[in-house]
Amino acid sequence: MIEAPSNNHAPRESPVAHLVLHHTAQPLDVSLDLLRFGRVSSHYVVDINGDVYRLVDEARVAWHAGLSWWGGARVLNESSIGIEIVNMDGNVHDYPKAQRDAVIVLCRGILARHPGIVARNVVGHSDIAPKRKDDPGGRFFWRALAAAGVGLWPVASAVAGPADEVTLLAVLRRIGYPPPHRYGRRAGRFAYIDDGDDSGFSDVVEVGAADIIVAFQRRFRPARIDGRADAECLALARALDAACAQA
Ligand SMILES: [Zn+2]
Repeated sequence: MIEAPSNNHAPRESPVAHLVLHHTAQPLDVSLDLLRFGRVSSHYVVDINGDVYRLVDEARVAWHAGLSWWGGARVLNESSIGIEIVNMDGNVHDYPKAQRDAVIVLCRGILARHPGIVARNVVGHSDIAPKRKDDPGGRFFWRALAAAGVGLWPVASAVAGPADEVTLLAVLRRIGYPPPHRYGRRAGRFAYIDDGDDSGFSDVVEVGAADIIVAFQRRFRPARIDGRADAECLALARALDAACAQA
């Protein structure tokens, strides 16, 4: 563990309930500079060689999730621990073994220290901010993490069609994915637009059904990310939902 304190943190006022994984989209030195001296932060950075940097104490809030939504929780910075993993784009580049092993060890330690992080609450940035974020990417090693006891990986026993979007979205919602929604910028910050009232918002973004399905596919069925409800997606979602209930 290499100590690399960040300037960016705040007191934690909610119990720790989420673990959020990211790719940096920048090399190590640029990432550390941004996350220590810029306007964002994370608790940890894991380099491609497996070196782990500690930037923010787990007892404090770091600023890595931004506008985010998972289950009943919004703005997950308050309740989460964030790990930035060095990779220019986890949708394009694999994560090397030394880095994978270090992330697994780090995550296992975090879960041991914070039993409030239930399995379904181990999430990617793309899960909690569909359309806005696509990290840690379709090449991330979610299955290996789950095999090591970190998060869940669905095994669908049977793939039966047909599948419809409404049914799939309902299952995804139970798992934690947000429903279709809109957000925009208000007073210089992103915020969700509730009740359809977008007065005072600029740069409004519509996050539709396909965007939510893309987020699920990026994580659990990266071989085909098309935003469409198909039988395989529904079977995987149902298996994941059942695993969530048992975990
Ligand atoms: Zn991220």
